[in-house]
Amino acid sequence: MAVDITTDLSAVRNIGIMAHIDAGKTTTTERILFYTGISYKIGEVHEGAATMDWMEQEQERGITITSAATTCWWKKHQINIIDTPGHVDFTVEVERSLRVLDGAVAVFDGVAGVEPQSMTVWRQANKYKVPRMCFVNKLDRTGGDFYRVLDTIVAKLNSTPLVLQLPIGAEADFIGIVDLVEMNAKVWRGETQQGEDYVVEEIPADLADKAVEWREKLVETLAEADDAIMEVYLEEGDVFDVPTLKAAIRRATIADKLNPILCGTAFKNKGVQPLLDAVIDYLPSPLDVDSIVGHKPNNDEIEIERQPSDDEPLSALAFKIATDPHLGKLIYVRVYSGKLAAGATVLNATNGRKERIGKVYQMHANKREEIASVGAGQIVAVMGLKDTKTGHTLSDPTNPVVLESMTFPAPVIEVA
Ligand code: GDP
Repeated sequence: MAVDITTDLSAVRNIGIMAHIDAGKTTTTERILFYTGISYKIGEVHEGAATMDWMEQEQERGITITSAATTCWWKKHQINIIDTPGHVDFTVEVERSLRVLDGAVAVFDGVAGVEPQSMTVWRQANKYKVPRMCFVNKLDRTGGDFYRVLDTIVAKLNSTPLVLQLPIGAEADFIGIVDLVEMNAKVWRGETQQGEDYVVEEIPADLADKAVEWREKLVETLAEADDAIMEVYLEEGDVFDVPTLKAAIRRATIADKLNPILCGTAFKNKGVQPLLDAVIDYLPSPLDVDSIVGHKPNNDEIEIERQPSDDEPLSALAFKIATDPHLGKLIYVRVYSGKLAAGATVLNATNGRKERIGKVYQMHANKREEIASVGAGQIVAVMGLKDTKTGHTLSDPTNPVVLESMTFPAPVIEVA
């Protein structure tokens, strides 16, 4: 039976995973779905076994995740992963997806570092002020070098990285990470792609000095970005407990002042669970980002602001049209305000036509869930829309709004 989805918005993360082709976006996404598949949904077991079987079947057949938005769960948080094309030819599509996500993880190849496509997508994300973390992947590869990649992040992306982790070991001997927030080590001993949990240990003796040095850098960088941390730091030094540091890192990341840096190898399943924790800890919920501003239909000068609340009139942006082998045409939308209900009549405020919402689905890695209605902040696939294209706004017929229009083709972004 179709369910109504209303969620505590503070527990929702709408994120994209962006990368240069081959950096490991697909593998990282698959590992995320693997771990979240064995995770728990709020109050109910989330069919873990089914998800894993499905992943194995799909991998055997060589099929990868193709949904434009996939919903998964991690530690009582709902993560909607919005597909962000990595290929530079899809620049317009990248812009469309950047428009509807609240935060992103940029995946870099631990050998190649920052590559041209990553620079392009990074600049597009700058344009939309998307809070971002970096995951330095493939550290198991010969030539993998975390510190060199870090240098390329500073030099090529003009970003202020906040290093939260250091690698333990390198290349084939890469076994885990030093966590500079908790000041411990997280170590994966096994060689497995099936996924295993890490063991929390003391920081290895040969990395102790380096860990202290980088912890100092972390706190100093954070203090530069956050007055509350600066005040305490100047008076008392590094007396911060883990929740205080995490809250400050979250503030600075959401304000787009700092980019947390994490590392691992998605392929060998090392670093993925801490990456998921960081998505929850540091990337924004729909409540943390600016409310959306649109305008009156046919009058760009009259601005209308909508809060991310179910009590507001409906406004939703169509961002992707896809063809599902079983369902036919699906239109992915982000609901910014109000409720979107199956069977309801809405106004396409962009073209002035009435539309009837057919079925509404939340897409998961292994199944789609039919839902009766969905609230603000959510991303769903809608069936039955006839005249709606990407970039169009679905709106309450009595309170129409056109969300900020995007001009296409997108402006050319120069690559240095
Ligand atoms: P995408 O193009 O960014 O989606 O990259 P993929 O996830 O498809 O990965 C490209 C190639 O790199 C594949 O052959 C992966 O198996 C491999 N790969 C991905 N992550 C890692 C990693 O952490 N270590 C190693 N050694 N290979 C990886």
